[in-house]
Amino acid sequence: MHAMATDGWVSVVFTKWGDRPHWRFRCLRLGDDAFGTWLAGPPGTVTQRGDEPPVIPPHGFVGLVPRTGDWMAFFDGGGPHEIYVDVSTTPLWRGDLVTCVDLDLDVIRRRGGGVELLDEDEFLDHQVRLGYPPAIIEGARATADWLMEAVARRREPFDTAGAARLAAQGWDQGSGLRPPPSQGGGLRGARSVGQ
Ligand SMILES: [Mg+2]
Repeated sequence: MHAMATDGWVSVVFTKWGDRPHWRFRCLRLGDDAFGTWLAGPPGTVTQRGDEPPVIPPHGFVGLVPRTGDWMAFFDGGGPHEIYVDVSTTPLWRGDLVTCVDLDLDVIRRRGGGVELLDEDEFLDHQVRLGYPPAIIEGARATADWLMEAVARRREPFDTAGAARLAAQGWDQGSGLRPPPSQGGGLRGARSVGQ
């Protein structure tokens, strides 16, 4: 499936259960390795949730679409969160588009090292309101448990792999600014800015 995608810009589209719109944004495809497909959202990347006004996070980020696993990880170049992992359905590639259903739960690691599971209340609410099937609920819980351990114990790619990708972008020097080619594509978000 990965073979269908080429270098260049990738649209990342998160929905909520039932095909409800969520965050979307465009990233630059950095390449694949044992962990999965690495993406870069340079400073200036436009993100948008549904029909809400677009949001430009104040920093760049590197994303990882895992080779295996029901999540997407983001390594932030600034802000309070070093790592932000969205628990989701299995990310699905279709050409230069990658999509998944966001299952509310997020595992974050703060710059000080603290690891937390976020949005459990939303997850419980959506189980009922959006009608998550039992297998989805169980799977999301298991993914969150696995992520909590992996992120807290700094198992790769949550130790140096993501940080190295981020450092390689050179954004700190202000030399890596490559805004998306258009504002009409996908976006995302202010994960460390909003939620
Ligand atoms: Mg969430």
